[in-house]
Amino acid sequence: MSRSSLIGTLAVVLCLPAVTVAWLGFRLIEQDRALEAQRVAESRELSASQAVQTLSALLSDPGLLSKSPGEGALLALLPGSPLLYHESVPAPPEAPSDSFREGETLEFKVGNATAATEIYRKQAEALDPLLRAGALYRLGRALNKAGRGDEALQTYSMLARMETAAAGGWPAPIAATWSRCSLLESTGRAKELRDEALRLQAILLSGRYLITRAGYAAFADDAARWSGRPRPTDLERLTDAVILIEAGVRDSSRPTSGRAGLAVQGEPVTIVWGQTSGKLAVFAATQAFVAREWLSKLAPGVWLRDESGKDLRPPRPGPAAVIYPVQSRLPWTVLAVAPPQGGDSGTRRNLLLVLLGAVGFFTLAGAYIVFRALKRDFLLARMQEDFVSAVSHEFRTPLTTLRQISESLEEGRVTSEERRVSYYRSLSRATQRLHRLVEDLLDFRRMQSGALEYRRTRINAREFTAQVASDFQREVEDRGFQVAAAPAPDVCFLADREALTRALWNLLDNAVKYSGAARSVELAAECRDRVVEWSVRDHGIGIPARERPLVFQKFYRGDGARLGGIRGTGIGLAMVEQIVAAHGGRVSVVSEEGAGSVFTMSIPREETECIES
Ligand code: ADP
Repeated sequence: MSRSSLIGTLAVVLCLPAVTVAWLGFRLIEQDRALEAQRVAESRELSASQAVQTLSALLSDPGLLSKSPGEGALLALLPGSPLLYHESVPAPPEAPSDSFREGETLEFKVGNATAATEIYRKQAEALDPLLRAGALYRLGRALNKAGRGDEALQTYSMLARMETAAAGGWPAPIAATWSRCSLLESTGRAKELRDEALRLQAILLSGRYLITRAGYAAFADDAARWSGRPRPTDLERLTDAVILIEAGVRDSSRPTSGRAGLAVQGEPVTIVWGQTSGKLAVFAATQAFVAREWLSKLAPGVWLRDESGKDLRPPRPGPAAVIYPVQSRLPWTVLAVAPPQGGDSGTRRNLLLVLLGAVGFFTLAGAYIVFRALKRDFLLARMQEDFVSAVSHEFRTPLTTLRQISESLEEGRVTSEERRVSYYRSLSRATQRLHRLVEDLLDFRRMQSGALEYRRTRINAREFTAQVASDFQREVEDRGFQVAAAPAPDVCFLADREALTRALWNLLDNAVKYSGAARSVELAAECRDRVVEWSVRDHGIGIPARERPLVFQKFYRGDGARLGGIRGTGIGLAMVEQIVAAHGGRVSVVSEEGAGSVFTMSIPREETECIES
């Protein structure tokens, strides 16, 4: 299988599960969301129907139509219950107006109020309460006209105490108290007026006296103006509702029992009515009562909407379950949002996402690692191929020399002694080259497997450097190279002489190989801190910056080497690094493309006196 198809297959094999897992995860999350939405919908439906049950139970409670309710509600048992006012009332019984003709003639026609008071006062002592009430009422009026205000006030007070009597067409306590107020107002007695007006309001509020709505409104307005305390609008609204229901039941436009939510004077009123011991019981409640007594018993996400579309609690955002009055038989539409859900599903989804993320991450990381390994293997494989062809090439050159020279010698074609000696020298060099090559390859293999053993001996740096330099000079002088070696310091170090010679030789050999047109190579050795350091400098082709970190890798050959057809196998510097590292030293390179390179290798030296072994 080719490299690209292998990578393609691998990509497919790795991507397929990743895509499948992602798809499965996506579907799972979708399903989870749908389930969650269904659960939420169910729980808000449940919440709404529980609210309907609670409210139905509250509205069906028999106590509602028998027990006196709290503030903001009214229970009327009709007929009979006290009410602020009534739709229509029978005219109250009064003494015939003829009874007071004499006094009234004096009062109005003659214009003698004082004389009239005498007549009225006598009549006020009568036993008949109707006559007495009518007389007191007129006496007050005449006394007022006669400028005897205090006496008039006293007279009205007496009249106000006549609970069942009537005067001027109104129940006596109302007419008398109103008259006292009016008198107090005209005489500018503000404090007393306020107290009296409060009394009038209390009388009206008690509902003890039968009075029409219009009459009530007139007295209530005056009382509110005098006392500074507003009319009880809530109670008036509830009274209106009761009157409305009563009228409806009476004329059969409404059933004898039922529930309703009505807008009375623009405000919602909830009404429940039915029959209790032969009477019509009407319960009416304001919005404040409903909120306080009933809504507080419902879950927080539930609210009610009356027939006018007004919400009895601030509505909640989000989708709501709705139960209409036709379904619930309640006087409101019941609305509910889902109660807060536990964080379960969110946590589950997050966990799923984390798991998917982890699977995706590991798949990608695995793919990356595999790709990197493959790339490295492909590179190594290519370098090994290059290595095999480079080694074959390396062998071919000396072998060709050997074959040609040995054939010439065998066939006796070399006649002159001088040429024969030169041929023998060439034979020897080719053999040495082959030998070094084979040794290099064998040692490299041993190094790689860790089987190479180093036999360390004490070596003098000066002697060692001079020896390698002179041997190498001899090797390359044919090709016109000059190896300039400065005397090394006279210090010792422990090393495998053969291995170290091979390392230094490799650096020198490279310096020559990559010299280009230059013909000089410099070898220097120095003592630095606790190391002996050799540097091999050439003035050749140099190493491009991109290749510098790679040159110590096994089988690596630079572009200049490969494309320039320079002999080599790519294991030289890798061997140098291994040998130096095995001796506890380091090797490095400084180079400039086109100007040459300096390879430096250092080996720890001995501090003690140097005695060669
Ligand atoms: P090779 O057998 O190719 O010389 P080495 O391991 O000795 O293998 O060197 C690796 C590569 O480093 C070479 O192929 C070459 O590109 C580069 N190189 C090594 N020494 C030098 C040098 N003195 N000048 C320029 N390039 C060098």
